[in-house]
Amino acid sequence: MLRIASENTVLKMSPNNKPVLSVDSGSTVVFETLDCFSNHIQNEEQLFSSVGWDLINPATGPLFVKGAEPGDILKVEIVDIKVADQGVMTTAPNMGVLGQIVSGETTKIVPIKDGLAIFNKKIQIPINPMIGVIGTAPQSEEIPTGTPGTHGGNMDCKRIVQGATLYLPVNVPGGLLAVGDMHAVMGDGEIVVCGIEISGEVTLKVTTVKGKSLPLPMLVEGDSVITIASEQTLDDAAKMATIQMHSFLCDQLKLDVDEAGMLLSVLGDLKICQVVDPLMTARMEIPRWVLEKYQYEMI
Ligand code: CA
Ligand code: CA
Repeated sequence: MLRIASENTVLKMSPNNKPVLSVDSGSTVVFETLDCFSNHIQNEEQLFSSVGWDLINPATGPLFVKGAEPGDILKVEIVDIKVADQGVMTTAPNMGVLGQIVSGETTKIVPIKDGLAIFNKKIQIPINPMIGVIGTAPQSEEIPTGTPGTHGGNMDCKRIVQGATLYLPVNVPGGLLAVGDMHAVMGDGEIVVCGIEISGEVTLKVTTVKGKSLPLPMLVEGDSVITIASEQTLDDAAKMATIQMHSFLCDQLKLDVDEAGMLLSVLGDLKICQVVDPLMTARMEIPRWVLEKYQYEMI
């Protein structure tokens, strides 16, 4: 099995990153990922501020997909996710929704046992491993791995799980896919700027799709088809995720503009991914069966 070790990380999604592995379209690759603290925090005495921003949000890669050219779509199937046997959470003043309220810097080590995250003596949470950072290189700029955007990046969308298919833009030759920042489990919003941060392994199948158009990034997971958008404000992110899904309904399923709007009003679920990163991320979900009614198949 093709594999990229966790020594190969980037802190920016960039057209200037040198690929660490080159594969054919249709290949399956295992990415070993560090947690968002570069695995620096191993006990509850180590605080967030001890890590340093130059170690935050490493993404493993980038992967060069042969034949992928600007304008193509990179179809990324999440074949498998394995997580380590302990995760980390932190709080810090002025960080996240409760930044003015938390008492200070604290660290919690969360053991993972038999598929459960042992949060405290009373609370055990079934894990739902998800990928926080996954994206391709932008066309010309360099975007820190902590920032989400149309290239993907730090979307912190809890629907990016095993079994999901994510569609990303190819902006530069090879696409330059990188992935990291896994969470054993995370709630919508990511209130104190972390899920249960955890290292592990992600197995991805990457396929280049040519001559197709989708509002990207786009995701199929379970019974849902999902558009994801990141903007300066949550209001704008919500609006953009909705506009993206509306354009999908009109352009791909050929619904009338008003009919598509009404359909979103009754079947579309507008949700928050995260409200704590440099841009806010929202998603619009519709049931997958809608596509079947219009005989539309995702690429
Ligand atoms: Ca994140
Ligand atoms: Ca994270």
